[in-house]
Amino acid sequence: MERVRFAPSPTGHLHIGGARTALFNYLYARHTGGKFLVRIEDTDLNRSTEESEKVILEGLRWLGIDWDEGIEVGGEHGPYRSTERVGIYNPYVEKLLAEGRAYLCYCSEEELEKEREEALKRGEMPRYSGKCRHLTKEQKEAYEKEGRKPVVRFRVPDDELIVVEDIVRGRVEFNSKDIGDFIIVKSDGIPVYNFAVTIDDYLMQITTVIRGEEHLSNTPRQILIYKALGFEVPKFAHVSLILGKDRTKMSKRHGSTWVEQYRDAGYLPEAIVNFLALLGWSPEGEEEIFSLEELVEKFDLNRVVKNPAVFDIDKLNHINGIYIRKSPIERIVELAIPHLVNAGFITENDINEKKEWLTKVVETVRDGLSFVGDIVNHVNIFFGEEVKLENEEAAEVLKQEHVLGLINEFETMVKEAEAIDSNFAQNVFKELKNRTGAKGKALFMPIRVALTGQVHGPELVNIIEILGRETIIKRLGFVKE
Ligand code: GLU
Repeated sequence: MERVRFAPSPTGHLHIGGARTALFNYLYARHTGGKFLVRIEDTDLNRSTEESEKVILEGLRWLGIDWDEGIEVGGEHGPYRSTERVGIYNPYVEKLLAEGRAYLCYCSEEELEKEREEALKRGEMPRYSGKCRHLTKEQKEAYEKEGRKPVVRFRVPDDELIVVEDIVRGRVEFNSKDIGDFIIVKSDGIPVYNFAVTIDDYLMQITTVIRGEEHLSNTPRQILIYKALGFEVPKFAHVSLILGKDRTKMSKRHGSTWVEQYRDAGYLPEAIVNFLALLGWSPEGEEEIFSLEELVEKFDLNRVVKNPAVFDIDKLNHINGIYIRKSPIERIVELAIPHLVNAGFITENDINEKKEWLTKVVETVRDGLSFVGDIVNHVNIFFGEEVKLENEEAAEVLKQEHVLGLINEFETMVKEAEAIDSNFAQNVFKELKNRTGAKGKALFMPIRVALTGQVHGPELVNIIEILGRETIIKRLGFVKE
C-alpha cells in the first residue's frame, strides 16, 4: 500500500506551491487507495510558530484535503510534530556514532566561517573540511572543558555515485564528493531537517516522497542516511517550481501567493483545487474542469511534467468564474455579504432584512464575477439614489431628442404600476414601445443610462426590479433636472 505525506514547516502561510504539493500527495494516495499523512516539521525553532501551523492546516481543510493520519487526527506512528519526536531520533544518532558513520564536531561558527572564506579564496566550493573526523578522546575532552557544545556530523563517503530515480525528473545523479560532512544534530540536540525527515519517513513507512523541486538537492543527503542506517530508500517525485507569467519564481510580485489570500478574496476552494491540480499535471483530453472526485480518479504521477508550471491568474479567474456560476446562489450570497459590508454598501443590520433583495443583486451580477470579492466593483448601480454618468457616451445618449418623452412615459408607468416586480419589468418595454414608438437601442439605452449612468451592465429587466419604484423615480427625477 502506498503511504505518502505532506510535511510543511510551520514558518509562514500555506503557499500556493505547498498547497499543490499537498494536493498531489492527497490525489496520489486516494487514487492508489493508499494513505495520506500530514506531519509538521518544526525543527527550525526560530521560525516555526503555532499560528503558522494553524493557518496551514486550516488552509488544507478549506481546500477539502483531509488526511488519514498525522497531526490533529493521530495514528500509530505519532507524534506527528518533529519537536515532539526529539527522543525518537536519538537511537539512530547513537547507532551512526557507534558505527563511525557520524561524529561529534566542535568547530565554532567563527572557525567554520574562516574555512569557508579560505575555500572561496582558493576558488573552491566551500564544504566542511572534516577537521573533527578523527578527534582523540583527549581533544574532545579539552573542547568540552572549554564549554563547547558539539554538533553531530554525518560522515559522507568520499567518492560515491548517488542516484535519484525520480518519478517526475527521471534519473538524477549526484556525487558524494560534492557534499561535505553535514550536520544531523545541532548543538542544542535538535536534529536538522535532513535527518529528521529521513527518520520520520522511515518510521512512518512512507513509500513515495512527493515534494517540491527545491528539495531535490537534499535528496542525496537523505539517501546517504537511509543507506547508512540500512533503511529501504523510498521512491521520490520532485514536482517543479511554480513560475509567474514572466517565468521567474512565483512571488508576491505576481499577486497573491497564499491560499488564505484567495479564500479571503472570494475564490472557491473547489476552483483552487481544480486549478492547482493543473499546475504541472494534466489528464488526457481537453477537459479542464474537474471536481475533487474526478481528480482522484484521473490523477497519475507519471503525467506530472518536469517543466516548471506557470501560474496564470487569468486561467484561475476563468475556472473560478465557472464554479461561481455553478454554485447554489445562497452560497454566493453568503460569501458576498462580508465584501459588501466591508465596502460599505450594506451594514450588518441590513443583512437579514434585505436577504431576498441581495440575492437578486448577486444573481444579476454573478455571471461577470471571477471571484466573489469582485462583486463590490459591479454593484454600485444598485445603491444610492444619484446617477453618475460614467462617460461622454452616456451623456450623449440622454441628449437625444426623444429621451425626455420616453423617460416621462416610463416614469408614469412606474408610478401607476401595481408593483415593480419581474412581471412589470418584463412587460414595460413592450408597452413603452407602443406608447412612444421608440424601439431597439433607442428604447432601451436611454432607460439604462437614466437608471444606472452606464451604457453597459446587467439585464435591464433585473435592474428595474432590483431598484424598485422609489429609487427609479428618484433617479429619473435626477436625470430630468
Ligand atoms: N518541511 C519541508 C518544507 O516545508 C518539506 C520537506 C519534505 O517534504 O521533505 O519545505
